[in-house]
Amino acid sequence: MTSPKTLLTAWDMLPKKQLGQNFLADPGTARMILSRGGVGPEDTVFEIGAGLGALTVPLSTSAKRVIAVEKDDRLVGLLETELALHKAKNVTLLNQDILSVDIPAIATREETRLLVIGNLPYNISSQILVKLIEARQSLTRCILMFQKELAARLTASAGTKDYGRLTVMLRYCSEIRRIAVVPSHLFYPKPKIDSEIIEIDFSKPSPYETADASFLFRVIKAAFSKRRKTLKNALSTSELGMGPEPVSSALASAGIDPVRRAETLSVEEFVNLAETLRQRSEVGIENH
Ligand code: SAM
Repeated sequence: MTSPKTLLTAWDMLPKKQLGQNFLADPGTARMILSRGGVGPEDTVFEIGAGLGALTVPLSTSAKRVIAVEKDDRLVGLLETELALHKAKNVTLLNQDILSVDIPAIATREETRLLVIGNLPYNISSQILVKLIEARQSLTRCILMFQKELAARLTASAGTKDYGRLTVMLRYCSEIRRIAVVPSHLFYPKPKIDSEIIEIDFSKPSPYETADASFLFRVIKAAFSKRRKTLKNALSTSELGMGPEPVSSALASAGIDPVRRAETLSVEEFVNLAETLRQRSEVGIENH
């Protein structure tokens, strides 16, 4: 692997901070991500943020197919050259913004569920995660690298300040596993903080069922949007458009004290609460 600094200099480019360009400079770490992530010859991989190909090139030898997205059009020529040098014929490059890519359409075209891999641009990591959760029916697992702070939030326990909207959404629809910490000096340019690799396995959702997951996600968002408020206040002044009365009655029938705060609720409690709120909101709609 040619070092990112050497490659960028040869192509007369500077890394773009606004695109979160901290390139992995250690081939051992790339190999470790693929082996601990269990990437195999049966996998069709969807890579987010291919960069200079630190993961794309080894993925092309480990996986069956790779569809790699990269927003920065300056990098396309460099990446194509790197892939040709390594005879990586099973890679398709998409020069697009990940936030506007139709992931389910790609899975349909490939006739398989996708394994997502990415050293994510830190400034849009949360948005990417929400997009992946929405596309989860088209995905098997995600092996993703985040800044350590965000990784801590994703894996936080209920009752801690790190526990938030994404923690609950992920725990509802997947099993999360911490894979490894990658120290900041293994990237170029060196970021301020270390990174952490997390596996999100959508084939292992929580056992709690809801008839409407998107309503559950709206309830979770509403509850955490005013996380210092009590649940009753947060939910009854939220975009759910439900007043204090139906909210109080839903909290009572879900057995949840209305003065509790969002960060104290387990996934199971959120699912129960969303179900009771949903029933009341449907009654509200019918009565109009
Ligand atoms: N995978 C490479 C590596 O490990 O060295 C690059 C990782 S770097 C942290 C993030 C990459 O995502 C950069 O190449 C950046 O240009 C790309 N990127 C940033 N925003 C993006 C977006 N909205 N859509 C697609 N790629 C994006």
